[in-house]
Amino acid sequence: MRISFHGAARQVTGSLHAVMSGDDLVCLDCGMFQGKRQESREMNSVIPFDTKLISNILLSHAHIDHCGRIPLVTKQDGFNGHIICTEATADASEYLLKDSAKIQESDSSYLNYKAVKRFLYELENPSSEIAVSQKEVKKLKKSLKSKPHRLNQELIDELLDRFHLVRTLPLYTTADAERAIGYFQPTSCRQPVRVGKNMSATFYNAGHILGSTMISLRVDENSTSKTVLYTGDLGRYDKPIIKDPNREFNKEDREVDLLIMESTYGNRIHEPVLDLKPLLKEIIQETYGRGGVIMIPAFAYGRTQEIIYFLHELYLKNEVPKLPVYIDSPLATNLTTVFGEHPETYDEDTHETFLERGINPFSFPEIQYVNSVEESMKLNRSSEPHIVLAGSGMCEGGRILHHLRHRIGDKRNTILVVGYMAQNTLGRRILDLGLEYGQSGRQGKPPEIQLYGSQYSLVAEVKKLGGFSAHGDRDEMTRFLKESGLKIKKIAVVHGEEEQSLSFCKHLQQMGYQAFVPRQGESMEM
Ligand SMILES: [Zn+2]
Repeated sequence: MRISFHGAARQVTGSLHAVMSGDDLVCLDCGMFQGKRQESREMNSVIPFDTKLISNILLSHAHIDHCGRIPLVTKQDGFNGHIICTEATADASEYLLKDSAKIQESDSSYLNYKAVKRFLYELENPSSEIAVSQKEVKKLKKSLKSKPHRLNQELIDELLDRFHLVRTLPLYTTADAERAIGYFQPTSCRQPVRVGKNMSATFYNAGHILGSTMISLRVDENSTSKTVLYTGDLGRYDKPIIKDPNREFNKEDREVDLLIMESTYGNRIHEPVLDLKPLLKEIIQETYGRGGVIMIPAFAYGRTQEIIYFLHELYLKNEVPKLPVYIDSPLATNLTTVFGEHPETYDEDTHETFLERGINPFSFPEIQYVNSVEESMKLNRSSEPHIVLAGSGMCEGGRILHHLRHRIGDKRNTILVVGYMAQNTLGRRILDLGLEYGQSGRQGKPPEIQLYGSQYSLVAEVKKLGGFSAHGDRDEMTRFLKESGLKIKKIAVVHGEEEQSLSFCKHLQQMGYQAFVPRQGESMEM
């Protein structure tokens, strides 16, 4: 048996590990690399084996860095396998893959626009050998956008053809993503399922996001069998809605020859999962007192549903004024539906607080799901106090920008940050500048933020609600190892920035485990 690591090796994204034995080749995840555009594009366009040889892909969960390259495999003619995962993961993947395809499509449109624009600028150079009148060049340059924020796709296509410019194609299209969905084959947790001639797999809850799993793979070879356990992304204890990571494995899965373990926060200790409701309550009361609006830039899968869950609890207990809540993101709305359809994944608290009382956690009289752009625009102009959750989570695009544009300059309003804001994103800028201005007692001129090419004063209050991480920290991962009672021969540490992985590996070695950090493309025999 051979195991190779083709993604999330000394980095966080692009999860893809392969287990090969005899005629079987099974992939553990098939995720997308994320990061710098050009670099990720190149890495994503390569599937490191002949897709005809892949028996099946076992998918731990629906985050794009774990499932995002599946359409690249299923669009090849020779692929005969399935994508095996839980039902909740299959349902969520449908929306997330289609959304990813849309992003690929709009990315490539943008790159094509840039290429044409660059070419037209070159034509203005008097030494250009291509005979086009300056008048026409001017006209073409003006027509590349049909509206201020909309590309004139037809003209761009026409010019790419006319001047034989290199066209950037999307990694995959919406049609490719739709095709991929046909290959999904849902399975239940704890039930072994055959995934190759001599391989079977059992999925266990990982407590990271709705439907997320660890995968135990049993490989029969020369009358012995070996077990590889893949953690996928390992969740935290006591998170709302979903169950804690599984620690009780079926007897036949308790002896592990190789554990492939994530290490996103291998060198970190999180704050404990706090009850975030008291803070949320305070923010709602204050903003309501000012007659303002709370804007929450939210990630569509997970964070949005957790906020809805907390708001619903506060409303049920009449702890806050019941402001209308708007979910202004079609993707978040679809994924909330997926959450609603999978009560089998909920923890006891969710059962007690909601289901046993016949209440759907994601539906209450004050919540409204906004779908059309017109409704969203109407909400932008509404003067009634309310709470709005809109994407994107880091304010790099999406409907949140319009809410911000309308309300950022009004001190009655609050921008509530509930997720990680990466460096160099607009969300990070708002968070840093807003908190700094607040800490200074709001003295002097408010900071300026650029939105759609114009400057806006950041007068609205900025607040942060932490404690939402979906990955276990070093102690929680250690706790998993101890409480699961697994007998582990070797650990491959993956899915972490190099520093996190190396540090977690050292920690494991100090605990007495044989552990190593594979490099991208590395293989091992077992
Ligand atoms: Zn994940």
